[in-house]
Amino acid sequence: MPNNWETIIGLEIHAQLSTESKIFCGCSTRFGDEPNQNTCPVCLGLPGALPVLNRRVIELGARAALALGLRINQTSIFARKNYFYPDLPKGYQISQYDQPFSANGELEIMTTERDDAGHPVEWKPKRIAITRLHLEEDAGKNVHEGLPEVDRYSYIDLNRAGTPLAEIVTEPDFRTSWEAYDYVNHVRRALQWVGASEADMEKGNLRCEANVSVRRIGDTKFGTKSELKNLNSVRFMQRAIEYEVNRQIGVLESGGRLVQETRLWDDRLLETRPMRSKEEAHDYRYFPEPDLPPLVVSAEFIERVRASMPELPEARRKRFMEQYGLSFSDASQLTSERSLADYYEQAAEASGNPRTTANWLRSELLRELEAADLQASGSPVAPGELGALLRMIDEEKISGKQGKDVLVEMFRTGKAAASIVEEQGLAQVSDTSEIDRMIAEILVANPQQLAGYRAGKEALFGFFVGQVMKASKGKANPKVVNERLKEKLQG
Ligand code: ADP
Ligand code: MG
Ligand code: ZN
Repeated sequence: MPNNWETIIGLEIHAQLSTESKIFCGCSTRFGDEPNQNTCPVCLGLPGALPVLNRRVIELGARAALALGLRINQTSIFARKNYFYPDLPKGYQISQYDQPFSANGELEIMTTERDDAGHPVEWKPKRIAITRLHLEEDAGKNVHEGLPEVDRYSYIDLNRAGTPLAEIVTEPDFRTSWEAYDYVNHVRRALQWVGASEADMEKGNLRCEANVSVRRIGDTKFGTKSELKNLNSVRFMQRAIEYEVNRQIGVLESGGRLVQETRLWDDRLLETRPMRSKEEAHDYRYFPEPDLPPLVVSAEFIERVRASMPELPEARRKRFMEQYGLSFSDASQLTSERSLADYYEQAAEASGNPRTTANWLRSELLRELEAADLQASGSPVAPGELGALLRMIDEEKISGKQGKDVLVEMFRTGKAAASIVEEQGLAQVSDTSEIDRMIAEILVANPQQLAGYRAGKEALFGFFVGQVMKASKGKANPKVVNERLKEKLQG
């Protein structure tokens, strides 16, 4: 990016709350059912049907807010946001407006620039102001089939209409695409961690819009923004922002003007293109929803929710560093997902060696998990078994190199470490009498080398080590072999 420009980004995240039923009716939120199977007069918007707030939405909304460190307003108000769209049968969306569930918050993320290969440079904390977190219902979906102007049909599927969402809006506080990237990952992990949302962008249960503008360094006024949509992964969002920043700078530097608009990211062409102009502000004619009372959340309720929450990711990362002596980068990776953090702690306990466990998990096990597209919770190697394997290495029953092969085999078969070691006859020979016997035979079989060594050719030591390792088929404990050989070669 030309260095006399500054990037300004604000993010809007819609996260689907993981309830079993919709926000204002009892219809199922199950995904993948027959179109319009999960509908009723309320979510179809039939006249006279009345919404009733699902209690579980309040609970999960509170978990989401608390996981992000936000305050919850004692009273919030549902409001009608009026607009016409075919997938919105009521002609309005029930949302929250001037009294949202949570407002004026702040949270801290860890963020870093990346080098050209995409590797983190230096992690630093950054505070992001959260304008609001409010609760609302989702709309349905328009489904298009066939080719335009040939056999094009459009359908409406209202299964998603009335699914609960938490919308989280930030102030325009991000200055680089990577800060935005780190923030979305932070939010995603927090929501998943406490079970508020599956927060999976590919499945669409976390959707993210990036508002992007640029200004010349030193300017105090914000530039004209565009809103980027259709960002199906965090990495695509980051790339879309980079693309958009360069496009805007290009327009401005060539003397052009920007218009406020919504642009769609095309993840095949790797570019954004205009969807609609936003020149004139929408007038949604918000007004308080007359069919729902104000949402009042008591302090006791919030405390109960707080007490039922697990240790949060940042606290856990800090504890991993203090309690187990892990580096920031180890602790961050191991707390990137809750089941991984749980897995790690169980394995560390079983191995008795937290640092080694962290190394093995990061380098050996995660590689296998990634290749098999599994999460730690679905690992065929139980944490206790990884611990048992590492213990065998610590106790020199097998070498570290053998251990790596054993782990691959454990992963493939689901068998215990000990049984693979036994089946494959891998156990290291540390028994000195066995090793002494082999050494004695080798000395007898190689009189010339022995004489050479004793005459001062110390380089021959390696030859003898090699012979013993060969005789033991690689199973002799190298440390014991070295010790015994030194003694025996002296004569
Ligand atoms: P809109 O009414 O177009 O949705 P809002 O003022 O509600 O605009 O802001 C929506 C999002 O856009 C917020 O996340 C906000 O921080 C961000 N935003 C507002 N102005 C700018 C700007 N000039 N550049 C980048 N982001 C902005
Ligand atoms: Mg917007
Ligand atoms: Zn319904």
